[in-house]
Amino acid sequence: MLNIDSFRNRLLILFAGLAFILGLCITLYIGYKASAQMTAASAQTLNLVAKGISTTLANSLTEREREMLLLSESPFFMETDFKDEQIQLKLDQVKQSYKYYAWLGIANPQGEVTVAADGMLQGADVSSRPWFKEGLKRVYLGDVHEAVLLAKKLKAINPNEPMRFIDFATPIYDAKSKQLRGVLAAHADWSWASQVMQSALPEDAAEKGIEVFIANSKSEILYPYKSIGQVTLPENKTASKTYFIDDWHEGVDYLTTDVPVISDTKMSLGWHVIIRQPVSAALANVRATQKQIALIGFVVALFMLIITYRLANRFSRPIEELAQRAYSVERGQDDVHFEAKTSIREIQGLSRSLNSMTTTLLSQKHQLQEANTTLEQKVQERTAALKEANLELEKLAHYDGLTGLHNRRAFNDYQAYLFEQFQRQQQPYAILLMDVDFFKKVNDSFGHEMGDHVLQSVASLLAAEVRSTDFVARFGGEEFIVLLPVTALDGALLLAEKIRCRIENEKIIEHYAITVSIGVSAVLPADQTANEAIRRADQNLYRAKEQGRNRVVASKE
Ligand code: GH3
Ligand code: MG
Ligand code: MG
Repeated sequence: MLNIDSFRNRLLILFAGLAFILGLCITLYIGYKASAQMTAASAQTLNLVAKGISTTLANSLTEREREMLLLSESPFFMETDFKDEQIQLKLDQVKQSYKYYAWLGIANPQGEVTVAADGMLQGADVSSRPWFKEGLKRVYLGDVHEAVLLAKKLKAINPNEPMRFIDFATPIYDAKSKQLRGVLAAHADWSWASQVMQSALPEDAAEKGIEVFIANSKSEILYPYKSIGQVTLPENKTASKTYFIDDWHEGVDYLTTDVPVISDTKMSLGWHVIIRQPVSAALANVRATQKQIALIGFVVALFMLIITYRLANRFSRPIEELAQRAYSVERGQDDVHFEAKTSIREIQGLSRSLNSMTTTLLSQKHQLQEANTTLEQKVQERTAALKEANLELEKLAHYDGLTGLHNRRAFNDYQAYLFEQFQRQQQPYAILLMDVDFFKKVNDSFGHEMGDHVLQSVASLLAAEVRSTDFVARFGGEEFIVLLPVTALDGALLLAEKIRCRIENEKIIEHYAITVSIGVSAVLPADQTANEAIRRADQNLYRAKEQGRNRVVASKE
């Protein structure tokens, strides 16, 4: 299927349409023009032929009439007795001179044929014949009529048609008395008309559908015989033009011309020569020309289509190539170069713009990628820092900053855990609560920094003395606490003593003894909360202080 969205195909359809419409218009226009001209030309020809026929008919009529007049007015006919042999001879001679004279004779004023060529109808009574009645008075021309008396006696020239005649008659007067002597008359065979047609019509008339009719003043067809009663003549419409188009009540348009026959005879018969030709036949050449033009139009349209196709290709191919490259860019290809192989300035411009746009976009993309990488790095760094800070915080939350031991919160959690274990599984644990003796004095005497140092040293010693499963925490100020899992009071007491000794003997400060007092307790089944064991340890610590310090007190429970 033809894709209408394509620029090339649209151009093709447009041009093909234009070529088709143009071709059609030209063909129709030329056809119309040629039709009009051919119609006029054909009509002109028909009209000329009709005029030719009309003139020949008129001339022939005039000639016959003049012949009759010449005879009737010759002294020989005006003076000689009609019975004279010479008259008979003369009539014979005249009849033979003209093929279509069917009869030639003279009737006396009473209507009896006195003399006739070949003696035909001699003695016959013609007094009632129109030609005789009229011929008594004047030069008479009688219209075509069928033979009455002669038909049986004559051999027809055209055996296929009944014999028909036209009559010529003229009175003969006595040369001296001017008295009417008789009527000279001739009957001419109407087949004469056929002969006129044959000589006047072009040879290919039948082939071209040209038909000729001769009609009398009442528009009744006289010729051809076969058309009488068959063809109805159209009303004459040639008043202002030489031709008209009429369908003759036959449903076919005929180019028609109607020319009157104007003879120099004394009487006019009012004949008309009518010629018709089917318009289709008259325009046959035009149709052929139209077909040729249509063929040429088709070839031209085809040619234009090919040119259009090439042209459309020239336009669309570089655009398609650019689109292809743009697609490559879209797929992520970086080294794309837009290059339009065309001489079209606009497409070259487009190609340049695309190139610079792609370069800009790609460099921006790279910058963005770099920025992303940097950002990612920063995020990772920050995340690491945050983790560290979190760890630090975690540490701060559970360890004591000065000594590095667990802080009180961590202690609370662990003690809660141990207390729970004790309640569930009766696993005992013991507590040592230790306080540095007269520590205020240390601060006062050696300074706060030294005080801190003493606290750190005590913490280290304490941590070193206990097991890894024991839990050492700074309880606050200069107080430390140790949780001893799975340890009874006795064991705790021993450890407390060991610690006390170790600190006492350690020279934390030169020439100054640092001692500690320790209160010991163990968890008891009666304890409701974990704090109760601490409270007992605290009481024992208090007792140790009271009893003089640097000692371990464990209550007996
Ligand atoms: P006693 O034998 O009755 O325990 O006497 P003492 O002086 O140790 O008791 P007291 O409670 O009166 O003094 C404790 C002192 O410990 C008070 C305080 O200034 C000091 N102290 C508490 N925490 C710190 C610390 O982190 N560093 C230093 N250098 N001194 C501290
Ligand atoms: Mg204290
Ligand atoms: Mg103290």
